[in-house]
Amino acid sequence: MRRFRRLRAAPGAPPVGADALRGPAAPVWLLDLDNTLHDAMTVVFPRINRAMTEYVARWLELAHEEADALRGHYWRRYGATLTGLVRHHGVDPHHFLRETHPFPDLERIVRRDRRLAHALRRLPGRRIVVTNAPMHYAARVVRALGIAAHIEAIVSIETMSFAGQLQPKPSRPMLRRLVARLRVPAARCVLVEDSVANLAGAHRVGLRTVLVTGISHRSHHPSRRTRAGPARRVGVQVQSVAHLPRKALRSATITR
Ligand SMILES: [Mg+2]
Repeated sequence: MRRFRRLRAAPGAPPVGADALRGPAAPVWLLDLDNTLHDAMTVVFPRINRAMTEYVARWLELAHEEADALRGHYWRRYGATLTGLVRHHGVDPHHFLRETHPFPDLERIVRRDRRLAHALRRLPGRRIVVTNAPMHYAARVVRALGIAAHIEAIVSIETMSFAGQLQPKPSRPMLRRLVARLRVPAARCVLVEDSVANLAGAHRVGLRTVLVTGISHRSHHPSRRTRAGPARRVGVQVQSVAHLPRKALRSATITR
């Protein structure tokens, strides 16, 4: 990890909460962005996917269908399409990230969310956004949601490179370096995510895990929905981050 971009300092005193959640032993919340803090399913992801497919088609001179399949393949294999493009095709990551997040109207798509802001304010401890998205996009989403005052820093994909290689979530070396950089034991960090694969990686590094199901899992049939439990490496499950403060105060999985 080389740099965290600071937005604004989080308010000093933690709000109401159990003693276990206060003071120096308070948790460090590592919050995923897309489909965890806001709905990226409806407009954002389809537009990014389209832009990425067009980029891949142009760069590698592939037909649209082939480019789309390759984009999906790299996303599933590496957790980010960009990783595959850099590793196998020498794509310039900065150019790619600029070209594939075309959102002049982002503030119209991502709306201020008072319930989310309220929940984050009540969440005791440090709150850091950790996203496989680029910084220019993540910072705008955080501001558009109206939560910048409650977020200490954003860790974006640009800061997830090591030895010349991009290592986005669920990279375990990246998560270990992130925890070391935060100067807290891994067990004090809680990754809050909609991606089960990312939570599994975090669990193996010793982080606590919270699965957020309300956005990207809502279309799953009940029998296919993930449930919290040791087999899934998911400690706690919530439908929405808005429910997290109450759950955090009650759950021994988080407060232990
Ligand atoms: Mg996500």
